[in-house]
Amino acid sequence: MTFDHEKLIEPIAAVAAANAASVDAGQFPTETMRALGEAGLLGLISAAEVGGRGLGLPAAAAVVERLARECGSTAMVLCMHYCATAVIEELGPRDVRTAIAAGKHLTTLALSEVGSRSQFWVPMSTATLDGNDVILTARKSFATSAHNADSYVWSSKPMTGGELSTLWLVPRTTAGVRVAEAGFDGLGLRGNDSTAITAENARIPATARLGEDGGGFGIMMGTVLPWFNVLASSVSIGLMEAAVERTCAHAAGTKLQHAGTAIAELPTVRAYIARMRIKTDQNKALLADTLAAITGKRADTLVRVLESKASAGEAAAEVTDLAMRVCGGVAFRKEVGVERIFRDARAAQVMSPTTDILYDFLGKAVCGLPLF
Ligand SMILES: Cc1cc2nc3c(=O)[nH]c(=O)nc-3n(C[C@H](O)[C@H](O)[C@H](O)COP(=O)(O)OP(=O)(O)OC[C@H]3O[C@@H](n4cnc5c(N)ncnc54)[C@H](O)[C@@H]3O)c2cc1C
Repeated sequence: MTFDHEKLIEPIAAVAAANAASVDAGQFPTETMRALGEAGLLGLISAAEVGGRGLGLPAAAAVVERLARECGSTAMVLCMHYCATAVIEELGPRDVRTAIAAGKHLTTLALSEVGSRSQFWVPMSTATLDGNDVILTARKSFATSAHNADSYVWSSKPMTGGELSTLWLVPRTTAGVRVAEAGFDGLGLRGNDSTAITAENARIPATARLGEDGGGFGIMMGTVLPWFNVLASSVSIGLMEAAVERTCAHAAGTKLQHAGTAIAELPTVRAYIARMRIKTDQNKALLADTLAAITGKRADTLVRVLESKASAGEAAAEVTDLAMRVCGGVAFRKEVGVERIFRDARAAQVMSPTTDILYDFLGKAVCGLPLF
């Protein structure tokens, strides 16, 4: 029997919707993540040989987009889990791969740092060999699910020094690894638990390395970049779909009673809604082509990967801005359901690679210049 992720996600999307308000108030989406695990969706991209469903990026994108229509924070938590899982599937230990496949292990990326900020490909954290162990020292600025993940895919300088990076699989409970108690109190994606983490003399076995010493940069560009850009685009598209749906429902269902007409009967409103639909559909088409480029190993894959997140992040900000405008003053309150989407949609532009970093990379790629 085939694993029908599109059918299985529906009841879980309803759980995410039911919890969206409390998650927006800052709670981690524990119930939804548990449901995803039980349904086999945390192990969606894990190989069949470790008990996973063996599906790839297109399936992950569909699941993340569906969740984002109900709750941006939950979709971002799953996005980061899949990105880290993609690395662990390639390079991680079998016991962790098996636990992820069984829905019993949540993971995430801990790449961004206080020092190198959104330029995550140049970590300032260190890893020092000590016998069979490695001692980690780090100041990570954000990691989604920081208090809740079982492990972090973690970057440091190479043990041998130099400008590249090395990746590690770090259990959250490692002594010396500390997640900031204050938690995440952000504008949007308020339940995604994207909290700062420090490491002081944190000892892990040298075997916790993911790939070669100094191989982190290649993994970031070859695996993390396509997975993150596609799934972050999926979050943005899910938020746009939700904004269009709620705006249409409000405009069609709200009357100017003295005139006996609905808001949707105002030509300006219809034009704004048309623009929202066009932007959403343009980005869905671009993402579909990006997935086709990746799966077909097309020559324009890098350009599409860079374009998709830059475009969807900008469009989500514009579409949700229009949603706020069309829905009027009541949109500032919670009842219309667009202000949370408006706030959540802002994150994509500053999550690295940020929109401006992507414009710089894309300009280089289009001009035939080296990215770095
Ligand atoms: C909700 C949320 C969740 C997150 N989750 C994670 C996570 O799970 N894991 C993780 O590792 N990180 C995560 N991050 C961090 C994120 O990926 C970025 O690293 C972080 O948002 C950058 O913030 P900053 O203040 O350090 O930006 P800065 O680096 O200080 O950026 C300031 C400005 O400089 C611009 N800029 C910087 N470099 C360039 C360049 N080369 N070209 C053009 N412009 C440039 C930026 O675009 C921005 O406009 C998360 C962030 C948020 C907001």
